[in-house]
Amino acid sequence: FPADWVPSLWRDIFDELLCDDNELDYGDQWSLNFNYSQTDTVTKEDRKRGWKVFCHRAYGDFRCSSCDKTWPSARVVVLFRYRLRGNRGTVIMRPFGQACRRCGDEEFDLPGFSREEVEKALLRLFSKIRKNCYGEEDESDRGSSAGSAKVWTKPHEASLCEACIMGICCQDDD
Ligand SMILES: [Zn+2]
Ligand SMILES: [Zn+2]
Repeated sequence: FPADWVPSLWRDIFDELLCDDNELDYGDQWSLNFNYSQTDTVTKEDRKRGWKVFCHRAYGDFRCSSCDKTWPSARVVVLFRYRLRGNRGTVIMRPFGQACRRCGDEEFDLPGFSREEVEKALLRLFSKIRKNCYGEEDESDRGSSAGSAKVWTKPHEASLCEACIMGICCQDDD
């Protein structure tokens, strides 16, 4: 049951998609890092340095570190900050947590993801990178509105969601 946060899973699949599947086939070196306090704010300085953000909403599972209760969520926010500089590409990821309703302790537990969800998130990220760093057309935007079936788990409780509390918006704007 993938309810625990495993950064190495993200890193492994990131490398697989780049090395085996050549998702970013431009000869640049891309790496994935983590930062658990970044926000979706892009300052003028950030922009000048080439930083962009991409916010993705995924299916994930949580496990409360106090009472061990687990719950699924269809609205787990993962935030990516990325830039290409010279021939080095950097991606910095932050997963947003949710708090346990039973404990009500405002401790945010980090999400666990299935392999499929990680792949899906990274493929969308690479599509954004191809568009915004390499000028390719964004495939994920093509006709996506027609086929975006939304499957909800329980109603999303904004008061237990770290991303909602921080006002991190998950709309695609670029
Ligand atoms: Zn709990
Ligand atoms: Zn939320």
